Amino acid sequence: MNDQVVRNDDAGLSAGVLAALRENLEDQRRFRREQLQQIAEAAQSRHEGEHRPARNERPHPRAGLDGRAQRDRGDDTLDARDRAAHSASVTEVSVKLAASARMVLADVEAALERMAHGQYGSCHRCTGPISLDRLTIVPQARYCARCHRVRETRP
Ligand SMILES: [Zn+2]
Repeated sequence: MNDQVVRNDDAGLSAGVLAALRENLEDQRRFRREQLQQIAEAAQSRHEGEHRPARNERPHPRAGLDGRAQRDRGDDTLDARDRAAHSASVTEVSVKLAASARMVLADVEAALERMAHGQYGSCHRCTGPISLDRLTIVPQARYCARCHRVRETRP
């Protein structure tokens, strides 16, 4: 180990603690990127599905060529309007999911950036150190618990 260089930045966190937090952040980054990719792929296949003729219940000629036709069979009990409404609500949910995943991903990347510059672990509002307990749970936290609460309760 090469821990003899004790840095005073990063709010006094030890190299070992920082390494563990960085690993946690990198895991989250990977997870969020995969999640966003899955949402994008799901949106893509739904988009293709919308090109099927709505009024006439015969499947699109191309639909038989892949597994999607099988999966869609359960939807045949819905009329076109129900199906459109269902599709819209699924889209709304995945848009919200994607938005929150992107937000977390941006926070996680910003935290890794701060870590790379030795500016990690200080509160952006009061500049005090963020407790290790809090960083362990929310490694991308920008604010200490007190400032976070102040921000949350502000109108
Ligand atoms: Zn603070």
